[in-house]
Amino acid sequence: MSTFAMSEILPEVVGFLGSGLLPMFIGGEWGPSAEGRRFPTRDPGTGDLLAEVAEGGLIDVDRAVRAASIAFRDSGWAVMPASERRGILYRLAELVDSHAAALAQIESLDVGKPVRQAAGFDVPNVAQTLRYYADLAANTPLRQPIAADRCEAYTSRTPYGVCAFVLPWNFPLMLLGWAFGPALAAGNTVVLKPAEDTPLTSLYFCHLAHQAGVPPGVVNVVPGYGETAGAALAAHPGIQHMGFTGSPEVGRKIAAASGANLVPVKLELGGKGAAVVFDDVDVAATAGALVSAVTLNAGQVCCTATRWLVQESILDEFIDRARHAFTGLSIGHGLDPHTDMGPLVSRRQMERVLGYIARGREEGARVLLEGGPDTVPETPKGFYVKPCMLMGMPDNVCAREEIFGPVAYVMPFRTERQAIALVNQSPYGLANSVWSSDIDRARRVAESMIAGNSWINAHNVFRHGIPYAGCKLSGLGGGVLGPDTLLDYLRPQSIVRPL
Ligand code: NAD
Repeated sequence: MSTFAMSEILPEVVGFLGSGLLPMFIGGEWGPSAEGRRFPTRDPGTGDLLAEVAEGGLIDVDRAVRAASIAFRDSGWAVMPASERRGILYRLAELVDSHAAALAQIESLDVGKPVRQAAGFDVPNVAQTLRYYADLAANTPLRQPIAADRCEAYTSRTPYGVCAFVLPWNFPLMLLGWAFGPALAAGNTVVLKPAEDTPLTSLYFCHLAHQAGVPPGVVNVVPGYGETAGAALAAHPGIQHMGFTGSPEVGRKIAAASGANLVPVKLELGGKGAAVVFDDVDVAATAGALVSAVTLNAGQVCCTATRWLVQESILDEFIDRARHAFTGLSIGHGLDPHTDMGPLVSRRQMERVLGYIARGREEGARVLLEGGPDTVPETPKGFYVKPCMLMGMPDNVCAREEIFGPVAYVMPFRTERQAIALVNQSPYGLANSVWSSDIDRARRVAESMIAGNSWINAHNVFRHGIPYAGCKLSGLGGGVLGPDTLLDYLRPQSIVRPL
């Protein structure tokens, strides 16, 4: 367990982490892995061990899929009226709310993110997602008439069955909500393989699901590594639907496995978001907002603004303002209430980010703000990185590839056309923003940027009911958070009677 600020850690969290090996949750029961394997999860703010977790393999994944299959058939979850499921999901949301402080601490300890952000955003978002989809499902008619010649016809929608998910480490609990919310509200059962770096809140969530009265086998969580447990889950012939959030490289493998099994797949992948800043903005406010965006979750955010396209006439002022905002940030352990930016999730991620900064410089980027390793005196072994601001050509590695750390890459532009061309030369298509007080221009640019999401005078905006999806390398399959996401978890069937 982490040695940092032990006195601050809630007894509930100490109890959860200190209970020895954290088992996996299959068929409503807690147990070790079939092969007796375990793996460590660490506090990235100190490098200390937080807990040992049961490591799932082929046998465990198979057991979980079977349990979810049986629960789909026999537990009543799939066939109960959506209003009844809503009651259970609302109870679960209430439990998330009442355990919010513990969930926020566990997420902060496991991911490294400031506990303030986990408590203010990640945890409440899960409860909101559960309520949003529970309500939507209860109000969505499952039969819809089809107007057709000489027949009575309608679409009937039923849940698919076992929905499998493999998720990343940057927003483990919030993304669990985005995955489970619509899948469960629609009447499916679920099996999750959380990221190996951050399995804790997914396991804690299973306790709450059990308490809320979710029937055994409806929710299953098998922690483990990607190449073993993740690959076994994606390739399992017993799943009817696959959801993946993570890198495009792994996304391709997941899509290939889903293709082999011919099951529908949803992929939410990486990004290289741009912010286009015109010279009619409030420069200080815009620079401040973009510094907040690129340092949110230490820059480990798929959709965040990492390429800053700034109109030439305000370039110098913008850089000064951004530098000022960066240097005002407090970097520290996630549980420190004064922390604005925590450590990166792991040593591997820290080395990856530092490697990108070095390569970007080698390729000729100008350093506007020196980044690099950082040391927080109370916790010298944490994986801390200072934010970095570079400027240079669009073909620099730091302008092209997803770094997933607090690194901003500035590129000046002269005309609207130039800016749009720079945005669209990225192979990613997740999210971009445009900043201008000319709203007509802002809308025009927003519509011209090829991506699933364009934000105006803001970045990283999420609301339940507004679809969030990627195109190009950033994903396929309909995305998340929208009303249609519920339908993605309901299999349509045409029922026809010739007249
Ligand atoms: P990753 O692709 O390395 O891992 C994601 C998950 O896949 C983990 O659970 C991992 O264990 C598993 N995995 C790894 N190899 C696997 C394999 N061969 N078969 C099956 N599963 C495997 O990604 P990451 O480093 O955990 O997360 C960062 C990436 O996630 C970034 O690219 C980021 O942009 C993306 N992301 C996208 C969104 C979105 O909504 N579009 C949200 C968050 C993160």
